[in-house]
Amino acid sequence: MAHPSYYYRYFFYSYANMILRDVQNLTYPDGGVEFKSTRKSSSRYSVLHGKKKPETILIHGSPFVISIGSQGKLEIRERASLLIRGDTIEDIFDSSDRSRVNLETVDVIYDAEQRGGVVITPGFINAHAHPPMYLLRSALAFEEDDLATSLKRMALLEQQMTAEDFVLGAIGDFTEEQRWGITSILSHYGVFDPVEEAAGITRQQVINAVSAASNSHPHNTPEMVETYLKAARTYHSTPAVALHYLYKTSPSVLERVARLVKKYNVLLTMHSAETKDYVEQCARLHGDTPVKVLDKYGLLGPNCILSHGIYLTREEVELIRDRKAGVVHLPTSNLLHRSGTFNYPLFKKVGATDRIALGTDSVISKNRLDLLSEALQAKTLHQEMSNVSYVELFNMITAQGASILGLKNVGRIAPGYRADLAFWKLKDRGFLPFDENDPSTLVSNMITHGGHNIRDLMIRGQFIISNRMHNIVHEGILLERLHEAHRALRERIKK
Ligand SMILES: [Zn+2]
Repeated sequence: MAHPSYYYRYFFYSYANMILRDVQNLTYPDGGVEFKSTRKSSSRYSVLHGKKKPETILIHGSPFVISIGSQGKLEIRERASLLIRGDTIEDIFDSSDRSRVNLETVDVIYDAEQRGGVVITPGFINAHAHPPMYLLRSALAFEEDDLATSLKRMALLEQQMTAEDFVLGAIGDFTEEQRWGITSILSHYGVFDPVEEAAGITRQQVINAVSAASNSHPHNTPEMVETYLKAARTYHSTPAVALHYLYKTSPSVLERVARLVKKYNVLLTMHSAETKDYVEQCARLHGDTPVKVLDKYGLLGPNCILSHGIYLTREEVELIRDRKAGVVHLPTSNLLHRSGTFNYPLFKKVGATDRIALGTDSVISKNRLDLLSEALQAKTLHQEMSNVSYVELFNMITAQGASILGLKNVGRIAPGYRADLAFWKLKDRGFLPFDENDPSTLVSNMITHGGHNIRDLMIRGQFIISNRMHNIVHEGILLERLHEAHRALRERIKK
């Protein structure tokens, strides 16, 4: 049999003409043609030297550049310009200061000033997703009262998914997340290659955690995961280790995983303390609660990311705080699956809220893959018991989220940081009206409105979405392909 990556590559090329745009046009949307002719009136791009791959981009005159600062506080710069060189933010300065940039060296100017202007935030960080499952949208009929039956039906569909389905699903997931301003994702799934393929195609930044003990892929082993860790440098995505749940992981597998995490210094993620039942099953198999079991194996540290974390004891939350592990709060998923309520007040009481990131989970746990609505969900969920401030929520989906995932120089807008940026039109119901004396109301507006999608998106200094159009993937054709594949999947389980 051919090597799996050959297979996926073949798939990619066979579909290339159908769903991909001309990748040559990636960094600026027009190649000098489309932009100047059909999109001139709405475009903000000026291509100066006609270079095929612009290296230096000036983003001129944004009315508000919003980011968490180095001290963890919200910083809003008014009338600011950014200079991007390669994949990095080189400078940020007052837009009236023309001395800061030599236009001779600039390849593209993005006009963020005219027609009401464009607000810039860091690209958002999604700390928990299952991208290939995108194809299963509609599989969990939420009006069903019997959740267990719905989940069983979903698993039947998932078992029928092919390698092509996984790639297509992940492309669907990544491109949707990009529309909502998400530029980094922690993927947790049973296969590596399809997620890698989709990340490469869409240029999405993905930590590709492949399960060493998987529910959907029961033959996975730590040794299989190690083959990806060894070849880490050859991939677009960053390989990491996942476990479905501790209660489904034998002590022997856990020992081998501990060796891997230590040897390769990689991230380990798993679902944890999502239901009382799972905690009890963990105690039966390992003799203790999940966090204490992880600590016993030397796995509880900054490399450890636990998703859900609903039924954690005070002692466990303190351990998470002391070992600087991360917890992904998934309020929508928890509500839809009736898992319980994340104990935010406990995290606050013991001073562990800086360990919390937010995530989407898959489309069977939260149909819309964005983080602004998830931030609002977190806000309203805990409102009665505690206050989660808008700034804190914004931090969770930018700087704090990046730091929890161990992403260096990501999640803030500052010199030396990676140029992962989301561009939002100011003249939008998601922002206006706001209080000019308190521009932080832009952040609360953005979260409470929740319906924002981006105008442009930059990942590593390249425009992935320009003028609201995806530069790589033809989304109209992609949606048709997704629907065809979904229909075929439903046909297969009938047989
Ligand atoms: Zn999950």
